Amino acid sequence: MKEPYISREKLAEITAQFPTPFHLYDEKGIRETARALHEAFSWNQGFKEYFAVKATPNPTILKILKEEGCGVDCASYVELLMSQKVGFSDSDIMFSSNDTPAKEMQLARELGATINLDAYEDIAFLQEVAGIPEVISCRYNPGGVFELGTDIMDSPEEAKFGMTKAQLIQAFKDLKTVGVKKFGIHALLASNTITNCYYPELARQLFELAVEIVAETDVELDFINLSGGVGVPYHPEEKANDILAIGQGVRQAYEEILDPVGLGKVKIFTELGRFMLAPHGLLVTKVLHKKQTYRTYIGLDASAVNLLRPAMYGAYHHITNMDHPDGQTEIVDVVGSLCENNDKFAIQRELPITNIGDTLVIHDTGAHGFSMGYQYNGKLRSAELLLEEDGGVRLIRRAEIPEDYFATLYGFDFEK
Ligand SMILES: *Cc1c(COP(=O)(O)O)cnc(C)c1O
Repeated sequence: MKEPYISREKLAEITAQFPTPFHLYDEKGIRETARALHEAFSWNQGFKEYFAVKATPNPTILKILKEEGCGVDCASYVELLMSQKVGFSDSDIMFSSNDTPAKEMQLARELGATINLDAYEDIAFLQEVAGIPEVISCRYNPGGVFELGTDIMDSPEEAKFGMTKAQLIQAFKDLKTVGVKKFGIHALLASNTITNCYYPELARQLFELAVEIVAETDVELDFINLSGGVGVPYHPEEKANDILAIGQGVRQAYEEILDPVGLGKVKIFTELGRFMLAPHGLLVTKVLHKKQTYRTYIGLDASAVNLLRPAMYGAYHHITNMDHPDGQTEIVDVVGSLCENNDKFAIQRELPITNIGDTLVIHDTGAHGFSMGYQYNGKLRSAELLLEEDGGVRLIRRAEIPEDYFATLYGFDFEK
């Protein structure tokens, strides 16, 4: 079973003070996950997690992760700016973008971020718009399909990201001649993997590639970036990844492939987003209406603008009714108020009988939750709250008000 990290009583205190809907993050859980990750990779000198800012772009969350020794992985101008304001700089920032505008490259260079080039063609572009730094990373795309055993995990061939092996080798040669001193290799080949084998298999492929590339180009390889893709069990029947086992799996590949050829100083980097934060966020919402037609509908005060994953990917998010967690059940569709029929958090799900006014929590919204939000139907972005380690609760982003929505309209046929 999936249990929320907060009691009914405590949550009732919070909802008495802060109107729903809001995302509530668990500081204790965030810190524990960050520590477990660092423990899992403690065998590697120089290991660093660059938290994928896009997953949870909130300064308080970024500060907590900073205190735990993490850097940030940015992919846009605003993510870079936010990271700078929170106090990240230089090698604490990874810039893994694609189709990158010139001014984003320039800001990344100004901040001293490590740039992870997505395309061979980006070398000339970077040289022209921002200059070539001394440390650089290149993103690899092996093509074909990425398999674990007999399971096809994803299809890199169809992914717009990264460069071919031939391009990567040529890129390293070119970059060396224009002054790059230290190199990194990056790849992200599958998403939300629920297996302890993803990172070890990816590592094995990248380590073998690294050996080949160093032999051919004689560059100084500084790091290998395993990027994101380690998943979380959204469904109660799925088993959580064991990060210690994952770390050991990567270590084994490292000792078999890199150590023997004198590459035993290469640092391992990660850019996890989902694994770090998803389980440590809940979308807290109340039941506004109950409707009976061909189906039973539970209408919430939250909608897809607060959590897009179910509408966009049909993603499963577990739901707990805090006021009626068990008892007799009914089959319902749990919906928001948007004028779009995909605005459903659950379709034909068996839940304990729900009443108007009940508080529901939607689980695992800590990553790619608030951040994928939008304002369709003039629905405003919700607040974000932090459940602190000592049990206190504080607002870490206020909810939007109509003035926020109108701010870009004043002066354009719109009177104040
Ligand atoms: C999205 C992304 C990540 C994070 O992925 P998760 O699945 O959230 O861990 C890391 N690196 C890059 C380049 C990404 O685009």
